[in-house]
Amino acid sequence: MYQEDDLIMISALQHYAFCPRQCALIHVEQAWAENRLTAEGRIMHEHVHEEGDESRGDVRIERGVSLRSLRLGLIGKADIVEYHRQDDGTWQAFPVEYKRGKPKPDHSDKIQLCAQALCLEEMLSASIPTGALFYGKTRRRLDVDFDEALRQETEAAAIKTHELIDAGITPAPVYSKRCESCSLVAECMPKTIQKNRSVKSYLKRMLDET
Ligand code: SF4
Repeated sequence: MYQEDDLIMISALQHYAFCPRQCALIHVEQAWAENRLTAEGRIMHEHVHEEGDESRGDVRIERGVSLRSLRLGLIGKADIVEYHRQDDGTWQAFPVEYKRGKPKPDHSDKIQLCAQALCLEEMLSASIPTGALFYGKTRRRLDVDFDEALRQETEAAAIKTHELIDAGITPAPVYSKRCESCSLVAECMPKTIQKNRSVKSYLKRMLDET
């Protein structure tokens, strides 16, 4: 069990799953660059949280719900938690996370949503089998099953993200296609740093050999 002071943001798991260096730049070095894409995302989240709670038939909707897990050492907010009335009169929690863009090829958004579900399970002592990601670009809601594989991937990401933030060391960049959609590409300079590092390691190898 983690202590209150050791909790990390749930969103850090999404950053870690996208790129460990991006996670360290944000959560270790506090390097956060607002650009058009992040501003659009922030405004979208603020808008969702401001709308207030409501009930629609057999669905109750809570917005900006505070979350915490001492088991995984996580803290954060769910954009929306829906509660669906079941046949037996109980209410099934169903987290929904809003994303500005479109579904990504990696699991980072699913890991963030699953981490929210794991927090809710701990807080409500309930089982949460599914949730959804809403993508602003496609205007589509994608249902996500919290199956055993995703749960294990999320718990592993939580452990790795804690280790990364505790170590306080930012990994070197590895340039790849994901850098094209990274909000921190200007701060990270993946091509420049990677090139300089390879020149440096080449010179070191040459010196070692002589
Ligand atoms: S630019 Fe690429 S290497 Fe750098 S933080 Fe972003 S995704 Fe990671």
